[in-house]
Amino acid sequence: MHRTQVVVVGGGPSGLMAAIAAAEQGASVTLVDKGNKLGRKLAISGGGRCNVTNNKPIDELIRFIPGNGRFLHSAFQHMNPERIIAFFERLGIALKEEDHGRMFPVSDKAKSVVDALIGEAVRLGVTLRINEPVEQVIYVDDAVKGVRLKSQEVLPADAVILATGGRSVPHTGSTGDGYPWAEAAGHTITELYPTEVPLTSNASFIRDKVLQGLSLRDIAITVWNEKGKKLITHEGDLIFTHFGLSGPAALRCSQFVVKELKRSKRETVPVTIDLKPELSLDAVSQWGLSVWSKEPKKAVKNIMKQMVPERMVPLLLAMVNMDDSTTHDHFQKKQWADLCELMKAFPMKISGTRSIEEAFVTGGGIHLKEINPKSMESKLTRGLFFCGEILDIHGYTGGYNITAAFATGYTAGHHAAQQ
Ligand SMILES: Cc1cc2nc3c(=O)[nH]c(=O)nc-3n(C[C@H](O)[C@H](O)[C@H](O)COP(=O)(O)OP(=O)(O)OC[C@H]3O[C@@H](n4cnc5c(N)ncnc54)[C@H](O)[C@@H]3O)c2cc1C
Repeated sequence: MHRTQVVVVGGGPSGLMAAIAAAEQGASVTLVDKGNKLGRKLAISGGGRCNVTNNKPIDELIRFIPGNGRFLHSAFQHMNPERIIAFFERLGIALKEEDHGRMFPVSDKAKSVVDALIGEAVRLGVTLRINEPVEQVIYVDDAVKGVRLKSQEVLPADAVILATGGRSVPHTGSTGDGYPWAEAAGHTITELYPTEVPLTSNASFIRDKVLQGLSLRDIAITVWNEKGKKLITHEGDLIFTHFGLSGPAALRCSQFVVKELKRSKRETVPVTIDLKPELSLDAVSQWGLSVWSKEPKKAVKNIMKQMVPERMVPLLLAMVNMDDSTTHDHFQKKQWADLCELMKAFPMKISGTRSIEEAFVTGGGIHLKEINPKSMESKLTRGLFFCGEILDIHGYTGGYNITAAFATGYTAGHHAAQQ
C-alpha cells in the first residue's frame, strides 16, 4: 500500500507539530530545516523559558490574536490550549500556569519543550534533516510534487507543508523563504510588517536620553488617531529606551501604531501613558493634595516622588512650568490640574517601530482567503499546506502565536497525511 509522502519545510513549533500529526496518521514524513538545530525561535521564546500556550477558553484566546484570530476557529477544535497541555504532559513535560494564563514548562527551560517535540517526531518515525535549505517547491498542473533542496536533491511528495515562519529575527532561520514559493503557486502575500516590536520616538526627552532605562510598572498606554479617537489601550509594564518605548505594553500597541501610520499617512501617531490607571483623574488630584496638605512646607518635587518614579518628576514639572520648590501654600490650581492630567495622560508622539527583523512576530503573510481553514490546504494548489507564522495571522506575545503555530501545524499535518 502506498504511504502518503509528506515533506514539512521548517522545524519550528508549527512544522514539528505538523510532522507529528502527519506521522500519527500513518504518513511517511520528512521534515527539512536549513538550520543546524530545530526549534531555534521556540528555544528563545518566552525569555528562553518557552511560553508553550495560554490557558484561556477558545473565544478569549482569539481576542488575543488580533491578526485574523477568527480564522483559527476550526484549527482550535483539533488543537487548543487544553490539548497542548495534555500533549506535553503525555510527553513528560509538566507545565505550570503563570500570570495572565501563560503556560511554561516546570523546568523553565525552552529546550525541554523543543527536545520533547523532536523526541516525539523521532518516535513516530519522522525523518529529520537539518542543515538542508530548501530551494524550491515543485508544482505540476496545480498540484505539488515535492521540493528541491539547495544540494539539488529532490524530495518527491504527495503533500508539502510550508512552515518556514515569518521574517522576524532572521538568525533563527525565519528569513521569509516560504513567501516566493507560495507566490509561485498563485498565492497572494499581504503586506508584511513588524508586530510585537518596540516603538520609536523623536521626542526631545527620548533623544536626550532623559528617561533611558526607566521602567514603569502597571501603566496603561493608549494609541490615538489624529482625531482623538482611542484605537487601543494596553495595560502592563513599559520601559523608556534610547530610541523610544519597549516592554510588554508598548509591544502590544505596536501593530496599531504601524497600521495607523499607514492609514493616516502622517509622520507620527499620538500615544498617552497613564501612570496611575487604577485611579481617576480626580482621585489622583485628591490623593496628591491630601498628602501635600499634611506636609504643606514640602516642595512639590518631593510630593511628586511619592506619586511617580523620581526620574520623571523634573520632566513633568517642566512640562507644566512649575518650579520644583513650590510648596502647598503657593501652588496654582491650574498648574496642579495640568500636572495631574500629565500623570493620567503623559503624551508622546510615536514615529514608528523598530524593524521587522527586530520584531518578535511578523504581521501579514499568506492571504487567508486562499487557504481552507479546516485543513490549512491551499485552495489553489493541491497538496500544498501552510502553518504557523507564514500565514497572515499574528497574536500578542504570551503564548498566542505559539498556540496558533501548534494548532495550524496539527491541522495541516493531519490533513496532509490524507492526501
Ligand atoms: C524573542 C522571541 C520571543 C517570542 N516570545 C513569544 C511568546 O512569548 N509567545 C508567543 O506566542 N510567541 C512568541 N514569539 C513568536 C513565536 O516564537 C513564533 O510565532 C513561532 O516560533 C512561529 O513558529 P513557526 O513554526 O511558524 O516558525 P519559526 O519558529 O520561525 O520556524 C521556521 C523554521 O523554518 C526554517 N526554514 C526557513 N526557511 C527554510 C528553508 N529555505 N529551508 C528549510 N528550512 C527553512 C527555519 O530554519 C526555522 O527553523 C517570540 C518570538 C521571538 C523571536
